[in-house]
Amino acid sequence: MKIYLSPSDQTGNLYSAGNTNEAVVCRKIAQAAGADLERNGYEVMIGAEGTTYQQRTAQSNAWGADVHMPIHTNAGGGDGTVVFAYPASVDNKYVQGVYRSVAAVTPGADDGVRAVTNLYEINNSRGVCVYLECEFHDNPKLAQWIIDHTGELGEAIAKGCCSADGRVYAGPDESFVPGGRYRLLVDNYIRTEPSGGYRKYKDLTASAKRKVVKLSGSRVKLKKGNVVEALEVFRKPDGDIWIRIKNGWLCAVHRGVYRLEKI
Ligand SMILES: [Zn+2]
Repeated sequence: MKIYLSPSDQTGNLYSAGNTNEAVVCRKIAQAAGADLERNGYEVMIGAEGTTYQQRTAQSNAWGADVHMPIHTNAGGGDGTVVFAYPASVDNKYVQGVYRSVAAVTPGADDGVRAVTNLYEINNSRGVCVYLECEFHDNPKLAQWIIDHTGELGEAIAKGCCSADGRVYAGPDESFVPGGRYRLLVDNYIRTEPSGGYRKYKDLTASAKRKVVKLSGSRVKLKKGNVVEALEVFRKPDGDIWIRIKNGWLCAVHRGVYRLEKI
């Protein structure tokens, strides 16, 4: 399931608060949405800064996006969220799911899903186009609200996609923290850094040497049942979580599967 995010490239659309513009703020929303979508199992591509909407559409089509989502904030006097869609897509589950989820978060009176045939990305993307306009940036209060809620808006986009697919939305995991103690649920490789090389047996502390299984190439796995303290926690953008222990790094969560539990 591929979702292409195309945040506004309109650096000239200035906000009436915060000395910023539509391109800068919409990129933040897209980055938040991207991380939340990836954690929930979606493949995500975000149109690069400085590229035009025509280039994004071509990239989205070449990649084979299932959903193409321009992310904008609105202007022209008004409030609330609106989603534009190709007439045949108005009732599409992603169009409706994202609209409902984002509209529930934004403070203004929302404007529904509208059939539109005069926007390039709607007319030319092969994936279902969810053309999102979340709140109005030409009202100082609403502009400031958007600036303060880019994370929530990104999360609302991801939640909308999850609800369209009948998935339970997975939020960021807060159970892994520095100083926390965790028990291994499986034998787990000790690495020199997150996703990095394998720690060698000879480099372990004496006490760790007694708690591992030796494998080929002098690699080691710390045995199931052992308890470790997290000295540092590293979260990858794809949602995997790594913790640093005295002897190296352990993968704590891989593709949503927990290898350690908090004690
Ligand atoms: Zn715009």
